[in-house]
Amino acid sequence: MQAYDDIFKRRSESGGSIEVICGSMFSGKTEELMRRLKRARIARLSVGIFSPKADTRYSDSELVSHNANSIPAMPVSKASAILAPGSQVQVVGIDEAQFFDDELPDICNALANSGVRVIVAGLDMDFKGQPFGPMPALMAMAESVTKLHAVCVICGNPALYSYRLINNDGQILLGEKESYEPRCRICYHLPQQEHQH
Ligand code: ZN
Repeated sequence: MQAYDDIFKRRSESGGSIEVICGSMFSGKTEELMRRLKRARIARLSVGIFSPKADTRYSDSELVSHNANSIPAMPVSKASAILAPGSQVQVVGIDEAQFFDDELPDICNALANSGVRVIVAGLDMDFKGQPFGPMPALMAMAESVTKLHAVCVICGNPALYSYRLINNDGQILLGEKESYEPRCRICYHLPQQEHQH
């Protein structure tokens, strides 16, 4: 991670960029986003943080993560409400990006083109293992993509899937430990009767 920070610190002096932090649930995406944003603040850069209004698990105004660290975030209902290019903000953090509409990649591109360092965190796959919302387009457009892994609760290997524990077929189901668990490729595809543990 250190190497990325150094690369983008140099780049940010001449222009903007897009960094994507992706992975399954419980992989530490929000923690990594906050780590980068805190470093930007230490560097005296002006930071704006945004999250989708749909994600109201804990709070309307805090960027939340599973370890209860939080920094203030602005909930917005659509990607175009994030920030106008040309504002004074130098670093924009976006959490739970998978919940945003398909305009988000273009918004992030416009921000980066106007000199803003954009750091986006989100689920790369939904519980069915399919690319989630605007994430694949963002990953394609980004200067850097960091894929984090959780730990498979069945076998302890790195986990890339968010396995849904309850029977609900909708793509969006907010919740944490009671609704999802991280699993590796093998354990994600275990037959149903072996799912119980
Ligand atoms: Zn496993």
